[in-house]
Amino acid sequence: MKGPRRSPTLLGVRIDLHTHSTASDGTESPAEVVAQAARAGLDVVALTDHDTTSGWDEAAEAGREHGVAVVRGTEISARTAGMSVHVLSYLHDPAHEGLARELRRAREARTARARRIVALLHGDFGLTWDEVEEQVEPGAVIGRPHIADALVARGVVPDRSTAFDDLLHHGSKYYVKHYAPEVLDAVMLIRDAGGVAVFAHPGADGRGRVVSDAVIDAMVASGLQGLEVDHRDHSSQQRERLRTIAARHGLLVTGSSDYHGTGKENALGENTTAPEVLERIEDLGRLAVVR
Ligand code: AMP
Ligand code: ZN
Ligand code: FE
Ligand code: FE
Repeated sequence: MKGPRRSPTLLGVRIDLHTHSTASDGTESPAEVVAQAARAGLDVVALTDHDTTSGWDEAAEAGREHGVAVVRGTEISARTAGMSVHVLSYLHDPAHEGLARELRRAREARTARARRIVALLHGDFGLTWDEVEEQVEPGAVIGRPHIADALVARGVVPDRSTAFDDLLHHGSKYYVKHYAPEVLDAVMLIRDAGGVAVFAHPGADGRGRVVSDAVIDAMVASGLQGLEVDHRDHSSQQRERLRTIAARHGLLVTGSSDYHGTGKENALGENTTAPEVLERIEDLGRLAVVR
């Protein structure tokens, strides 16, 4: 008699391809993220901090210690038609000059932009840059979550989510944009650096509108290889739409938590990626998964 059909998760390989540490706006160090991944029963975790690779070595070492395979990745800030979008790059060469230059430029722009947001918040809430810096690990990539943490420390809001809902969301009068490469350029740079390019939460509507099919098609023409379909910011209709697009183009489909430690509700392993998809990613990427 045949046994029941089992999902990859039940077969025992649990893979989460999108997490953040204190190298950007997560609340746990890269080693802690990996330790938490082990505790959550994950077999594979990708560290994908915003616009940096600085957490990779620490995460890889922790992975060997805890018996968790580590995928080295970066969540790259980009823009399309004035909208901020994110592209995950997996297993790229961190020394690729063109990509490294763009990431450096985005990091610098993030710092200048955070200062401008803080200057706007100073007027109404007295927030200072020093208070924000206290919330940022030395060398980390700064983002709105750090400003949220400073607002919490000052007693303006109770938590990060309230800070975003009330003061830091993209329609707020305190919101400021930062430089990021055009999304088609970002995809081409990822590919040139040997990375596997996966569009992060392409169906999220937190930016006021959802990215169109035409933009995704253009990204595919520029080298996009996958869509992050299973993500908590996606409605079931969005997931269905994205699966259809992925099937049309033969794209990889991933699922992940977008874990930020205690900074967000997202729990490690709340969405996962199939083992055969990870296999494809490893085949396509320039670097190996650290085991
Ligand atoms: P930024 O990179 O500065 O534009 O800030 C965006 C980051 O803030 C993303 O990584 C989000 O995961 C995070 N974020 C967005 N909304 C919230 C929220 N409500 N609570 C905590 N973090 C959030
Ligand atoms: Zn983040
Ligand atoms: Fe993102
Ligand atoms: Fe993310």
